[in-house]
Amino acid sequence: MHSKHGQKKPIYPFDEWSIIENSFDVETNGRDETIFALGNGYIGMRGNFEEGYGGPAGTSLEGIYLNGFYESEPIQYGEEAYGYARHSQTMLNVTNSRIIQLTLDGEPFDLFQGKVLHYERVLDMKNGILTRTVTWESPAGKQVRIHARRIVCLNRKHLAAFSYEATPLNFNGTLTLESALDGDVQNQTTLGDPRVGSTFHGQVLRTEEKIQDGAFGALRQKTQNTKFELVCAMENELATDNSFVVENPLAAENPLVSEGKNAEQRIALEYRIDAKQGIPVRLTKFVSYHTSKDYPQKELLGLAKKETAAAKELGFDALAKEQRVFLSAYWRQSDVEIRGDEALLQSLRFNAFHLLQSVGRDGKTNIAAKGVTGEGYEGHYFWDTETYIFPFFLYTHPDISKRLLEYRFSILDKARTRAREMSQRGALYAWRTIDGEETSPYYPAGTAAYHINADIIYALKKYMHATDDEEFFLRAGAEMLFETARFWVDLGDYIPKRGNRFCINGVTGPDEYTALVNNNLYTNLMAKDHLEYAHEMAVWMRQHHPAEYRALADKIRLAAAESSEWKRAADAIYLPYDGELGIYAQDDTFLQKAVWDFERTPPDHYPLLLHYHPLVIYRYQVIKQADVVLALFLQGNRFHTAEKKRNYDYYEAITTHDSSLSPCMYSIIGAEIGYLQKAYDYFMQTARMDLDDYNGNVKDGIHSASMAGAWLSVVNGFAGFREYDGQLWFNPRIPDKWEGYRFKITFRGRLLEIDVDQRQVVYRLLEGKGMTIRHGNRPLDLFPQKEAAISTKAMLEAVIFDLDGVITDTAEYHFRAWKQLADEMGLPFDRAVNERMKGIGRM
Ligand code: BGC
Repeated sequence: MHSKHGQKKPIYPFDEWSIIENSFDVETNGRDETIFALGNGYIGMRGNFEEGYGGPAGTSLEGIYLNGFYESEPIQYGEEAYGYARHSQTMLNVTNSRIIQLTLDGEPFDLFQGKVLHYERVLDMKNGILTRTVTWESPAGKQVRIHARRIVCLNRKHLAAFSYEATPLNFNGTLTLESALDGDVQNQTTLGDPRVGSTFHGQVLRTEEKIQDGAFGALRQKTQNTKFELVCAMENELATDNSFVVENPLAAENPLVSEGKNAEQRIALEYRIDAKQGIPVRLTKFVSYHTSKDYPQKELLGLAKKETAAAKELGFDALAKEQRVFLSAYWRQSDVEIRGDEALLQSLRFNAFHLLQSVGRDGKTNIAAKGVTGEGYEGHYFWDTETYIFPFFLYTHPDISKRLLEYRFSILDKARTRAREMSQRGALYAWRTIDGEETSPYYPAGTAAYHINADIIYALKKYMHATDDEEFFLRAGAEMLFETARFWVDLGDYIPKRGNRFCINGVTGPDEYTALVNNNLYTNLMAKDHLEYAHEMAVWMRQHHPAEYRALADKIRLAAAESSEWKRAADAIYLPYDGELGIYAQDDTFLQKAVWDFERTPPDHYPLLLHYHPLVIYRYQVIKQADVVLALFLQGNRFHTAEKKRNYDYYEAITTHDSSLSPCMYSIIGAEIGYLQKAYDYFMQTARMDLDDYNGNVKDGIHSASMAGAWLSVVNGFAGFREYDGQLWFNPRIPDKWEGYRFKITFRGRLLEIDVDQRQVVYRLLEGKGMTIRHGNRPLDLFPQKEAAISTKAMLEAVIFDLDGVITDTAEYHFRAWKQLADEMGLPFDRAVNERMKGIGRM
């Protein structure tokens, strides 16, 4: 295992439902801004303070983002070739609406001045609220307690709310609260790390209009190239027993916030309060974001007024209640409870919480690699969605997974255009994009990763198996499926020197440390699956929905013979295999390269991509992320266990896990083949990747794929969950360190709970009609509201029947089960094995 990580010491104290920070640390501020970010799948608000930030440059990224709201520029190439991606797309840092600036008798609140007497910040994941409590003493000795709460409303796409309470502790005097919107915002520029920042220099979101009317204020801004309009608005309300006056200063005087800023781009409202010791002052601020991507330009201001007025009418506490109700429904299906490891429980909740905060739920947006928490990867959507994140939503909240597919359907036209540009038929989805156009300037690890087409269809297939949503298939799915299937058949060729097998040449698979190769195993296998599914569904549709089929065939000019061509290519696909090693080759030439010199690679040279030219890396057997091993998972029914083990052993030794998408896959297959310790170690890296900042780059945003990978590691890994052809399989194992774990799966209108401890597995069908699942290799009938408990001893028999000479594959797992059996029989280990084998007729 080439991992640069050991197990890390947790950064934040353990708490089941919260992330808690007890002191402010300038060194880790960037990271903490990401960890304490709030979002609702549309608005993403980093955890920056309301009062602004007086710390050193480079230690903070003041950021608010709107999923899918971007500026675009021509990509500058030194040397350009035909078909290169033409435009960048960068999710924009938008109007800063969180500003509430506090002064005590003229002294501005500033953590870098005076004394912090108490500090606590809590991200409450059950209630979806961020709270900060600070007691601060100004340089002149005035003490104030601040209690700031914040929500980004999960069921109101355009709305966020702040409740900011300040209480003078040892003085009577003038307290001012300035609530502002600031349009002078920029994205950070890239600093040599291709994963970070944008190419923009300076502000690209220009302020067009300022609107102020009593406690309401709005800024209208516009992007230069995409010409999108944005209206950010605020409504304010002050509650206190003190007397106060309100002013509308045209420009804020406060040096902390307005220094160097363009007052023309700012609106502010100042409350000047005659404050008395011990009497709290509470400002509530409701902010909204509406853009012309969603609504006609001329409606934006009206919508903003309506949204903020309705929120003010309801009040902060009612919004907080809505948030709680929303989340309680979310957790009911998404929660994974690990018993006996509090730190893990916390991180799994943190991951599931951030996934919800990041996922676009409007069918027009998707989930970015960094969610809406930072500027890494420019807010782009990748294959991460379908391969890692989609299954989490599919089996917990299928309605959300549907929205992700709707997004792909919404950009199908762009995918068709891209296929044309690439001289192919059908549709080719962009490797990285916001609005569907390919934006990856580095085609070897961009456009060449054609597998994204198959990844999307894999998600569609799983969606159909899990929901039977024929309406969606007939309206959208079929068109995506057939157009992308066409692409493969046109891209690949029957190569005489390969026995006329169907080969797909000149591609890049998931492993980005190997590029532009022939017959990447993962790509070919996923394409095979894709083509088989396309053929199957074309036959089904012709038979069951002939009118819809004819209409679609007319629309996309689908010839009668095309679907047979899909089947023919799928049957003939070439899969590179090395008979000597007994493993699949990652591609045609992979095994003919020298193995990377891991011994002589200093630990600080990882990730390799930041220290070696791509050509150096491409020359060696060295892997960035699971590739063949990913195929072993996604296409698991096409491999047998011994094969999985051989491939895993080989590829694990040369994998760097330089991508956060990697460890979870090694955890899942590790669990399947009985490497429970490895499965556990890789899982721990995945599960706490962001909370413990394993890769040191959480400041740039969360790793959404890895967060979902943690769920996959428990559900697909330890619990052995698979879905093949509509049939659910489980094969639960449990790490020694845990007392138990429990999660739920939704499938075809059922809600199934799986509860595993060291003695038994309990399946409970909480909702829906009876069903048959597979436990190990055996069918198991489940009845509504009943539970089926199976001891791990019974599992042992199921496994034995499955062995067929590959007992060593799962030795570790079997050993534990046998040991338990021997203990129960009161016999020595080998005698127990003999007795049992006789009993089941195997000896
Ligand atoms: C990985 C890709 C992934 C991208 C965005 C890269 O480092 O190699 O597989 O899609 O990050 O997460």
